[in-house]
Parts: sequence; structure tokens; C-alpha cells
Amino acid sequence: MSDVFADLVGQDEAVVELRRAAAAAAAVLRAGAAALVAAGPVSGDEPASTPGGVDPSTGMTHAWIFTGPPGSGRSVAARAFAAALQCVHGTGCGECPGCHTTMGGTHADVRMVVPEGLSIGVGEMRALVLRAASTPSGGRWQVVIIEDADRLTEAAGNALLKAIEEPPPRTVFLLCAPSTHPDDISVTIRSRCRVVPLRQPPAIAVAEVLVRRDGIAPDVAQWAAAAAQGHVGRARRLARDPEARKRREAVLAVPRRLTGVGAAFDAASALIEAAEAEAEASVTESDTTERAALETALGAGGTGRGTAGAMRGAAGQLKELEKRQKSRATRAQRDALDRALVDLAGFYRDALTMALRAPVAPVHTDTAALAGAGAQKWDAEGSLRRLEAVLACRAAIEANVKPRIAVEAMMLALWKG
Ligand SMILES: [Zn+2]
Repeated sequence: MSDVFADLVGQDEAVVELRRAAAAAAAVLRAGAAALVAAGPVSGDEPASTPGGVDPSTGMTHAWIFTGPPGSGRSVAARAFAAALQCVHGTGCGECPGCHTTMGGTHADVRMVVPEGLSIGVGEMRALVLRAASTPSGGRWQVVIIEDADRLTEAAGNALLKAIEEPPPRTVFLLCAPSTHPDDISVTIRSRCRVVPLRQPPAIAVAEVLVRRDGIAPDVAQWAAAAAQGHVGRARRLARDPEARKRREAVLAVPRRLTGVGAAFDAASALIEAAEAEAEASVTESDTTERAALETALGAGGTGRGTAGAMRGAAGQLKELEKRQKSRATRAQRDALDRALVDLAGFYRDALTMALRAPVAPVHTDTAALAGAGAQKWDAEGSLRRLEAVLACRAAIEANVKPRIAVEAMMLALWKG
């Protein structure tokens, strides 16, 4: 039998801490219930024994931040912890309705914020904070999970901070962010949260979960886990999706195609266009469905009296939707491009470790021979310069440099060395 923490791969220390906190949270609820019984059923107020804020002695806290590299399982950890909080046994058994509905995303007291655009706005956050303050309908906890809390706008961060500073007694905030660096999460929010650091899970642990949970053949799972560099979701996609494998192969063909300036620009165009195509494939379907749904809701095509006025209001809503969709498309493109850059960085990292004769396994076993040839030609120094060019490109895009310009500069650097 596997409980809710089973898919949190290679994070033993974090799991121990979360289990302890879940048990403490269950004890808080039991103490509250006992106090209610003692006080008699007429007492409607929260009993005094239920802590309103942070109580370090119980091991339970109202605000948490899960940090770690992409794919390390930040949101998996947050969701599993939410399930353990809603579990009727207080353990995250994986069997009870509380666990099931939380893991399935349908628990009434668990809200998950997944930003679709590049940032989470203040309106969204205010609405969320308001709802989070209500009494949990299931009698346990109100849990709010904020994925990519590093994408909070400043105003949204302030709205969240207010709620974290004075948390309602039964509300728990679970934030996910790459790190606790001030660029990712404001210092004031950080100071109110307990941090659960996750690490990049080892390839062997990732392969194990692909075999056990997804029924993937062991040799494919091992290859995919290594190629995905510890990113669980990416490993699963590589193992299952032939299109994802094809895109990866195209990216890894870049180093041998860089034979001159023209080739470098061609490679840059190809990389950008591949990312655009991948992003478009991932968002087009939901875009169309959303637009159709909104148009139906707004009564598009109506001819009755008042239609003109309704359509004027509708135009505003459609514009709003288009703005949201555009922002989501931009994000999908950047994510696709970033995956390609991570693959490419893995290739030059392989060349570097080979040039140094470091006793570590290559990231990309299927291009290891090519990386070996590169290592001979470039030596450690040239390999490192190329690796740095890829990382600099990622950083530039993160800092809002136009992707095409950043990628062209990178390709030229990779060619010239
Ligand atoms: Zn349970």
C-alpha cells in the first residue's frame, strides 16, 4: 500500500518532516475537539487550546514554502502534505476520502493556484485570501497551494503577506518556489514561513517511480530519468511521448550542426521555431475551448433586444480572455525553450566531465560519443565556455531579453567557442 507521500521521489528528509507536521496538525484538531466536548456543544467559539498562529511546540505551522529545482516535486510535496492534513487518520493514508479528494484535486477545502501567465495578479490573490479565511467545510483545514509563488506580483505578495501575518486558525498556506532568494520570494513572506527544501532527486529514484507508478519498462525509465536530469515530469514525458523524444533529439543535434555563422543563425531559428510550435500545440486546444465557452455564456449570435449592449460588454470580456491566453502562450514558449536549453546544457556538461575525466555518468547517454569528441576538440576550458554560454542564455531570457536575440548570441558563442 502506498500513501500520499509515495510519489515524492528521493526526498526522505522532507517526508519525515511533513509526516511529523501532519501528525501535529491532527493533534491540534483532536485537542480542539476535546475542548469543544469539555465546554459543551453550545460553545460556538474556537476553543482557547487551538493555536491561532505559529506554535513551534506542535510542529505545525500555518505557512510553508517548498523550494527546489524544477521537477524536484515542489507541488507534489505541497499536494501530498495537503492530503495528509485532510486525511481522516491524520497520516496521509492514501485511502480515505480526505486523501482521495485532495490528490484528485476535488477537495472542497484545498485550493490550488496555478498561474497561467507570467505572474499571479493581486485580484486573484485577494479573492483567494478571502475564501481561505472561511471555516473549512470538512471540519479540518483550509489549504491554499500556490504553485510558482515566485510569479506573484508585488501587490499580490502584499495581499498574501497580510493573510500569512494573521492567519485564520484553520488556514494553511503552502507556497512553492525555486528558492528562498529575495528574487523568488519576498523577505517578509519568507520570514513568516517554514521552509521545506527539496533536492534534485537522483536518477535512480526517478527511474524507480516511473516503473512503479507509470508502468514504464525499466531500461526506458533509466534512460529517461538520466536524460531528464532529475526532473520527474520531464522524465515521464520523454519515456512516453515520441514527439518529446524527437524534439530532444533535434536539440542535441545542434552542436554538430554549428559549422559556421550562417549555420549558427539557422540553428537559432530552428530552436526558437520548435519552441513556438511546441507551445502552440500545448495551448491551442484550450484557447479554442475557452473562447467557445465564453462566447456561449455571453450569448454570441443573439438577435434579441439588448443584444448590442450585451455584446459591447462581451467585447471587453473577450479582450480580457485574449490577454490571458497571450500571456499563457508566452509562458508556454519560454518553458519549451528552457527545456531545450537544459538539454543543451546537459550535452556540454557531458563534454566537460569527459574532458576532466570525472567519474560521473553522462546526462545524455545517447549522445555521449559526440560529447566525447567535443571534449577532445575543445578541452575542459572550451567545454566550460560553451556550457556557460548556454547558462547565460537562460539567465538572459529570465531577465526578459528577447529569446531570439539571446539564442542567437548563444549559438554564435557555441560555434566560436
Ligand atoms: Zn487518508
